[in-house]
Amino acid sequence: MLSIAIQKSGRLFEDSVALLRDAGITFGSSPNRTLRTHASNFPLEIIFLRDDDIPEYVEGNVVDAGIVGENVILEKQKTVRCVERLGFGACKLSIAIPKSVAFNGKSSLENLRIATCYPRILENYLLEHNLRADIHEISGAVEIAPSLGLADAIFDIVGTGSTLLANGLKEVETVLQSEALLIANPQLPPAKLEILERLMFRIQANRNAKSNRYILMNVPNDRIEKVISIIPGMKSPTILPLAIEGWSSLHSVVPETIFWDVLEQLKAAGAEGILVIPIERMIL
Ligand code: ATP
Ligand code: ZN
Repeated sequence: MLSIAIQKSGRLFEDSVALLRDAGITFGSSPNRTLRTHASNFPLEIIFLRDDDIPEYVEGNVVDAGIVGENVILEKQKTVRCVERLGFGACKLSIAIPKSVAFNGKSSLENLRIATCYPRILENYLLEHNLRADIHEISGAVEIAPSLGLADAIFDIVGTGSTLLANGLKEVETVLQSEALLIANPQLPPAKLEILERLMFRIQANRNAKSNRYILMNVPNDRIEKVISIIPGMKSPTILPLAIEGWSSLHSVVPETIFWDVLEQLKAAGAEGILVIPIERMIL
């Protein structure tokens, strides 16, 4: 049995539950009633915690694995293994100053009082850039610190930037681009590692499927070579003869990111009846 901690409620909760569900894992998820639950069809126990506690519990072997923001992992400075970047919970951590104050590069941060909930990440950033500043640790409502006269600047998570704007602040330096990570205790016994690998296999199959499309098209035989040169396929495309003389059906997989460009090129190269189909699972 492997145990995994996910956020009890908050921004990572729904995506974390969906990640496990999409991996075919069935469990009850109402953390209001119970803080731990067993999957019914996979050797996994799911534990619902505050995100801030997850790195410590993973390091201390209280749970085997967890899903938590990179910002929290870096701040807590616990020894955990990062197994996978999960692609959700994206946010950035930035330094912001009052709109009315001029900013002339990083040296403008010198000797400022900076309020933050992330003192360690900020400290590392300042050290890295050889800057001295006075870090003022607070536990929330960081954005109002400058207007209260508590600080000259803040270092915090910036979502859309509307909170900054509402508090008369402007973003001047991005320090970290964060997303949710799957982390694990670095010393899991082999039986638990094997379960983690099974889980990873499923997560990766889903991610590959989401980032690719299956594509089918009819191609005149004399254009096949040209068409193949356009498709950056998995291995080589499948080519099947059509009932009509001189034509073939060609199947391949195309990455989501370039798929519109590829479609245009295929059409120009003489492909017809192009069908694009979502992939449910993809194992490389
Ligand atoms: P908890 O009660 O579990 O301590 P929290 O209030 O610390 O929750 P949330 O606001 O739910 O945390 O955010 C959880 C994580 O979501 C953050 O640590 C960060 O990694 C990520 N995140 C993504 N976008 C944002 C955003 N706009 N603001 C804050 N966090 C964000
Ligand atoms: Zn938290």
